[in-house]
Amino acid sequence: MGSRKKPSTLITYQCARCRWDFSRTELDKPKCTICEKRDRLQEIKREPITSQAIETGMMRSMERMMISLEKAYEAGREEGIGDKEEIMLLEAMVKARNLQRHVEKAFGKCVTRKKA
Ligand SMILES: [Zn+2]
Repeated sequence: MGSRKKPSTLITYQCARCRWDFSRTELDKPKCTICEKRDRLQEIKREPITSQAIETGMMRSMERMMISLEKAYEAGREEGIGDKEEIMLLEAMVKARNLQRHVEKAFGKCVTRKKA
């Protein structure tokens, strides 16, 4: 009681619904980044937590998220998606971009800029 546990393991999960993979610590309740469900997650990798491992994992999933959103948007426009879908995708892209900026800022401050 009292002392907060520090996470020590980074776990990579894959969502069986949308094939998305993402990383969380062993203390987090994992939830799929894309479909926001947590019932079909499969653990695929465990590694010790280092700030490098977290940064790499997050940047990778951010990039992939942006790429897949942009692809979905382009494909949708070519096929002629409805306004509702188009708005949904645009909103998702804005959300992803904000998140990406947030993460870059956070890591920029505590990892990259720290000089020994
Ligand atoms: Zn999913």
